[in-house]
Amino acid sequence: MTSTKIHSTHCERTAFVYVRQSTWLQVSENRESTERQYNLRERAIGLGWPESRVEVIDEDQGRSGSTAIFRTGFQRLAAEVGLGNVGIVLMLEASRLARNNSDWYRLIEICGISGTLIADESAVYNPREPNDRLLLGVKGTLSEAELFTLRTRLYEGRWNKARKGLLRFPLPVGYVVATDGAWLVDPDTQVRERLSYVFNSFRRLGVVRAVVRDLRQQGLELPTRVTAREAYGSLIWKQPTLSTVFRILHNPAYAGAYVYGRSEYLSDRRSPKTGKASAHVRNVAQWPVRITEHHPAYIGWEEFVKNQEQLRQNWGRDDNRGVPREGRALLQGIIYCGVCGRKMSVQNRSVKESRSPSYVCMQGYQNGEEKTCQCMTSRPIDAAVAEAFLVAISPVNLKVATQVMDQIDQELVSHRRQRELQLEQARYQARLAQRQYDSVDPSNRLVAAELERRWNEKLERVTELERAFAQAERDAEWKLTPEERAAITELSRDLPAIWSAETTTNQERKQLLRMAIESVQVEGVSQAGQIEVQIRWRTGTITMLNVKRTTPGECSLKTPEEAVSRIHKMVPRRTYAEIAAALNRAGLRSAFGRRFTSQHVGYICRRDGLGGRKPRSLPETPGSVVQ
Ligand SMILES: [Zn+2]
Repeated sequence: MTSTKIHSTHCERTAFVYVRQSTWLQVSENRESTERQYNLRERAIGLGWPESRVEVIDEDQGRSGSTAIFRTGFQRLAAEVGLGNVGIVLMLEASRLARNNSDWYRLIEICGISGTLIADESAVYNPREPNDRLLLGVKGTLSEAELFTLRTRLYEGRWNKARKGLLRFPLPVGYVVATDGAWLVDPDTQVRERLSYVFNSFRRLGVVRAVVRDLRQQGLELPTRVTAREAYGSLIWKQPTLSTVFRILHNPAYAGAYVYGRSEYLSDRRSPKTGKASAHVRNVAQWPVRITEHHPAYIGWEEFVKNQEQLRQNWGRDDNRGVPREGRALLQGIIYCGVCGRKMSVQNRSVKESRSPSYVCMQGYQNGEEKTCQCMTSRPIDAAVAEAFLVAISPVNLKVATQVMDQIDQELVSHRRQRELQLEQARYQARLAQRQYDSVDPSNRLVAAELERRWNEKLERVTELERAFAQAERDAEWKLTPEERAAITELSRDLPAIWSAETTTNQERKQLLRMAIESVQVEGVSQAGQIEVQIRWRTGTITMLNVKRTTPGECSLKTPEEAVSRIHKMVPRRTYAEIAAALNRAGLRSAFGRRFTSQHVGYICRRDGLGGRKPRSLPETPGSVVQ
């Protein structure tokens, strides 16, 4: 497409590269962008112009783009184009040529008349072609949307910088940045030694949890840089946690590598909860920017790669323990520990075990404490919560149901308002940061660099919020219409049937629960054999329930009742061995499906308090004492 637009008549004329940065500050500080602009010279040569006929116009460096009057470079360019001396005009984004739209349209006009092409980094436009003309017009309009352009430049600039290992980001703890931008190991010996201790400990133990426990036992804390605004960058010491140690072990910076783009954000993979594009971590081999031996290392690159493999395998082992997560535990993700307030995780049993999953408060354990905080079988809790849910949504309690819906509606409105406010605030701050940046004395380079950094930060925040806002708008589209409201009311009448239908999946049951329930809190410590369940409904009301704990063995395997009652009858007259033989003859088998032995019979007698071979009266109800 590009080559078909360029004819020899174009190449015979001069190619003009138009370079411009609007303030001297940008000229001196924002070299990245300037560099990209000068790269256009190479592009002109690549498109077929001889080096001698490529001219760079950079007289307008440091002049405002809002009007052409003070930009002699632009005027010269327009004059040259008008005289028919120019074959092509190259610029960074086509829109940058002129901020002022009237200048821009005039230039397109003149280029059209004189048969001059316009090109940027990605495409070549011929202003004589209606389509291209339209595109150029749109580009000019877009240039007025300052944020858009700035964002593109920011993004491209970032990658350009990152590819050379020059893009700065907050360094991981253990490194400090020198005045020239180089990474140095932290001068604080304690920081360096503590990090080395972590790596050594992992080398020795091979499991992150063990490393955390080891650190805790030794009473060793880990250094952290403060990221909050006040006291930004200062060093504090914190209790080691699983995630901190994970982060340290996963960070390639400690192996001396400069890495950018470790995660990619794919729009097709979104968090079902927040709707945000979830980060997908790339393989080491796929990292777009990876500069090894960029700075002094704490561990070798080989060891880093080995650690990643080790971590992956550990994870895999954990994962294999449970059944695939279709998940029978209905409260997964909304259940909290009533003792310590943390979110509880679900421990699935293997299919063979046929036990129902458990809710476990694991975080303390993972962070090196002696044992888990509390643990309970999901079945009785799920059953109680589901019952409460069905009662709450039953026609008798329709009011609750409609309240729930109103609550959802209100939340959508108030969330939206919050997001709007947030965005407005972020935009204001970006404008403020830009003004501060533009007004600082260019010779005060340190201040200017800091201000530029803040400005960039603000712009990124705006972009991020805009994306979140758009996503939330899309998500909120299921706002309830009166018809839907009626349909749901209708549905709530049929809910018990739907709930228990075989075609309803656990996934759907979970969704139904979440529509009405904000969270569930359980506490099974203070009362023996009892679990206190607190349901927090989305309406804001709270329901308290008491659930009986499943006693150990209640649902485990049982010796067949018939065998037990026969044992009870025979005990006064026969030996254990004789009883076992009689049971086996009768075709009875133990709980595990095996033939009875004298030991087995003895165990049941001791359990039920029967003496062997001693004549004594039989219990009245032998069947009631089964295991
Ligand atoms: Zn807990």
